[in-house]
Amino acid sequence: MKKRSRKTLVRLLDQKASSDARKRHLYTHTNELCQFCYLRFSRVQTATQCFHILSRKSYSTRWLPENCFWSCASCNIRYEQDADFVSRVIDWYKEKFGAKQWDWLSVSYHTPIPIKDWELEEKLNA
Ligand SMILES: [Zn+2]
Repeated sequence: MKKRSRKTLVRLLDQKASSDARKRHLYTHTNELCQFCYLRFSRVQTATQCFHILSRKSYSTRWLPENCFWSCASCNIRYEQDADFVSRVIDWYKEKFGAKQWDWLSVSYHTPIPIKDWELEEKLNA
């Protein structure tokens, strides 16, 4: 098989993380409604995107189920711009999963792990 470029592997892993986030959402919510809209006091919209609690910058957490959720496009955009919304989402996260998991996620985010292409390939096939 032809070796896939790092860029392609990252894109495919993003697609996989997104589709898994959607499946988890549907499993627990039984609908496609965004679970974050109420945290910005907005009318609830249909979820269509992968929502990262901690940014995609860090490969340590980029594809973790603990970091990937399913949201509407407006919440995803707002999350980049509104610190109050971010802080409400983090409170929601701690409430839902516990402060311990939040601490673990934050530490993981700030702990860079060099990932080789073959490891990305392995993640993709996991
Ligand atoms: Zn939303």
